[in-house]
Amino acid sequence: MNSGHVQAYIGIGSNLDAPASQLLRSLARLASLPETRLQASSRLYRTPPMGPPGQPWYMNAVAELETRLEPLVLLDHLQAIEEAFGRIRAERWGPRTLDLDLLVYRDLIHECPRLSLPHPGIAERAFVLYPLKDLAPDLEIPRQGTLSRLIEALGAPCPEAI
Ligand code: AMP
Repeated sequence: MNSGHVQAYIGIGSNLDAPASQLLRSLARLASLPETRLQASSRLYRTPPMGPPGQPWYMNAVAELETRLEPLVLLDHLQAIEEAFGRIRAERWGPRTLDLDLLVYRDLIHECPRLSLPHPGIAERAFVLYPLKDLAPDLEIPRQGTLSRLIEALGAPCPEAI
């Protein structure tokens, strides 16, 4: 890692408007963020919806960034990308063209109304844990434990990768 750059992992999800293509386009947007490099991306996973019934299935992936952006500035950029992709925010956990979550930022623990780090949902979400494992099988999630322990504790099968 170069000086001044820190590692961050971004969870990406879509279940509207050709989700796989939304994911690939969002990776290109992440790669063009200022002061940021897209280091790697996971496979794409097809996963069942978590929210209200009747939604289409999701496509999920995780991106590994090296960035000099501060966490809240990075979050601003992620939300601007979501807006640019026409995300509908009408319903909690409802369908969305693009959802970007800041999962992990270095070893930072942070709690404020706009940003919880690490992302509090990681341990319950197979669609986050398995793509993270593609990129960093030995990752330690601050306060939550190692990825392998979290996957074992969740006990959910690996979603289908495409
Ligand atoms: P969601 O609808 O699940 O994408 O949640 C979006 C809201 O969660 C926004 O208001 C964010 O400010 C907030 N939030 C808190 N922590 C995080 C995080 N680690 N990554 C992304 N959004 C977060």
